[in-house]
Amino acid sequence: MARAPRYDILFEPVKIGPVTAKNRFFQVPHCNGMGRTFPSSMAAMRGVKAEGGWAVVSTEQIDIHPTSDITGATEGRLWSDQDIPYLARMCDAVHEHGALALIEPTHNGKFAPNNYSREVPLFASHMPVVGNAPVQARAMDKQDIRDYRRWHLNAVKRAKKAGFDIVCCYAAHNLSLAGQFMLPRYNKRADEYGGSLENRIRLFREIIEEAKDAVGDTMGVVARFAVDELRGAEGMEFEKEGREIIEMLAEVPDLWDVNVAEWENDSVTSRFADEGFQEPFISFVKQVTTKPVVAVGRYTSPDRMVSLIKNGVMDMIGAARPSIADPFLPKKIEEGRIEDIRECIGCNICVGWDHLQSPMRCTQNPTKGEEWRKGWHPERIAPKTADESVLIIGAGPAGLEAALAAGRRGYDVTLAEASEDLGGRVARESRLPGLSAWGRVRDYRVYQIQQMANVEVFLGSRLEAAQAMEFGADHIAVATGARWRKDGYGRSHQFPIPGLDGAGVFTPDDVMDGAAISGPVVVYDDDYYYMGGVVAEKLRADGLDVTLVTPDSVVSSWMHQTLEQHRVQAQLMSLGVELVTSHTLAGFGPDGVTVQCAYSGKEKVVSAASMLMVTSRVPVDSLYYDLVNAGGSAAVSRIGDCHGPATIAAAVYEGHRFARELGTTPDEIPYRREITELSSDFALP
Ligand code: ADP
Ligand code: SF4
Repeated sequence: MARAPRYDILFEPVKIGPVTAKNRFFQVPHCNGMGRTFPSSMAAMRGVKAEGGWAVVSTEQIDIHPTSDITGATEGRLWSDQDIPYLARMCDAVHEHGALALIEPTHNGKFAPNNYSREVPLFASHMPVVGNAPVQARAMDKQDIRDYRRWHLNAVKRAKKAGFDIVCCYAAHNLSLAGQFMLPRYNKRADEYGGSLENRIRLFREIIEEAKDAVGDTMGVVARFAVDELRGAEGMEFEKEGREIIEMLAEVPDLWDVNVAEWENDSVTSRFADEGFQEPFISFVKQVTTKPVVAVGRYTSPDRMVSLIKNGVMDMIGAARPSIADPFLPKKIEEGRIEDIRECIGCNICVGWDHLQSPMRCTQNPTKGEEWRKGWHPERIAPKTADESVLIIGAGPAGLEAALAAGRRGYDVTLAEASEDLGGRVARESRLPGLSAWGRVRDYRVYQIQQMANVEVFLGSRLEAAQAMEFGADHIAVATGARWRKDGYGRSHQFPIPGLDGAGVFTPDDVMDGAAISGPVVVYDDDYYYMGGVVAEKLRADGLDVTLVTPDSVVSSWMHQTLEQHRVQAQLMSLGVELVTSHTLAGFGPDGVTVQCAYSGKEKVVSAASMLMVTSRVPVDSLYYDLVNAGGSAAVSRIGDCHGPATIAAAVYEGHRFARELGTTPDEIPYRREITELSSDFALP
């Protein structure tokens, strides 16, 4: 299918200094939990994006010296020539598809506790390192600054040797020295690197100019800069110094990559910001420089992209998350296949697993992180190995993805769903406050399945074992999900809690089913992800007095991983939800809910007519066991929450895996591993 001519503008080349990007799609640097720890996985993941049409494919941040050591985080590293080969592998993967490879060398300043290197951290001024480690960074003297400039330059030269086409000088997210030096709250220096704005940007200017002098004839040099920190006068503001800095350095780099800091402001989830939320902050930049400008905003709509270019907001469409959810987004626009785009839902599960130092995963794209180790391609899947049929029971994220992927393999697929709706938990949860974008998990799959003649869908079909067997399918996947439990069992409680077996006790499933809940209500969150906060918000919006009790010291504590915890807590407080942290549940009775301090054991009573339990879930797996025990000829599997209650991302992955593995015998360790190489010069001391 040919693309509509209005999208042609997105496929115009853009010059970045001496190199030319083939179109306007720019995958900005993003962490991925692979980096130097899983370098083949990282390189293959980047290569797939190049194949998907991104004209520029960037690394994650690459730390450049032992004084910038953030061991524990799984990022890139370029300390010496030893690090060149793995980065060269990424460049090769990117070049294979005609894209440009960009590197982001970084000195983390006070973000680097130097746990591995044991060096004293360096910073603009004396200051504790980020977090709560008992470590301080010391103020850099003139020699330190000269050293830093040399390390940066050495990294740039090594990047060229590795094969990179573009180097990005990094002053965004507060993660790099050059950016940290700009901020008066950090920079207390009295020399030519402190005081006036000109002095505070000296380091940034120097590293850009030095990179241009060294490699500017063959490599593009990008400035990546956060024009605002969303913290008012205490930080960078786009109408003040943010603008002045771009004015002062306007023509120095070959391209400006602009955003807002810190990372949680740049990568806001869909619950807290819409597509394009950064535009008010960055749209001035193009008026100030003649150099091309790239910016991000979780853009997935090609019409929006066209208008951004036409209206002079940016020259290239920057993306991290949309390129993760759909590495083939540019190709699909180029080929006129807009409805095939798998749109990012803005959940930040990708960020979460990067934080957990594990290969990133994605709710929408189950192949993310599996490109090399499992050989999973986001757009290609092996054809079926036999003329067989598949029955999938339950059309939540696991069942929908299983049906889609098995259908793509060419199997005859039947998808049976008990309710009148497709989407399972995704359909139900996307009706809760702030989660509407999650419905994209259903929408993408339902549309794709509708195009397939070999996938048949039955709604209103609650199957029991005998009926399921009547289909005569060769394979049955039970994807019947899980239900929240009422009895309080979970992380903090493994014995019955008095009062939970009576009336007035509810679960999130009851809320989603529209149960009548009377206030005041206590939401007990022993789950720590989004559900506790979201149902509290929903009940508050329904006009009830709500108290959220949680054993942890903050609400929704796992959401630190998705960069949302502080926003959830602030939102609940602003809505008037009472928060009781560090308390477990001791009982529920006519007087209300008895809670117990997790430290002192002291009890108190919170007035409540109803109790909403957000603790853990029980798989709905009786059908699976009925089928297994019936001993029919079909191979029976369980997938998704029915197999193990977890994230939506896990359910989609399980559905995909089921379909990939049909007709195969997976190894006991079902993927390739990257084993640390033993040093050849090992000797005992
Ligand atoms: P997952 O996250 O694993 O995909 P969900 O809970 O989202 O699980 O979806 C499970 C789906 O299975 C729900 O839509 C539910 O209506 C459906 N379901 C449960 N039991 C049956 C059954 N016996 N027959 C058909 N559908 C079922
Ligand atoms: Fe988008 Fe969520 Fe995938 Fe991240 S994990 S790319 S936020 S859909």
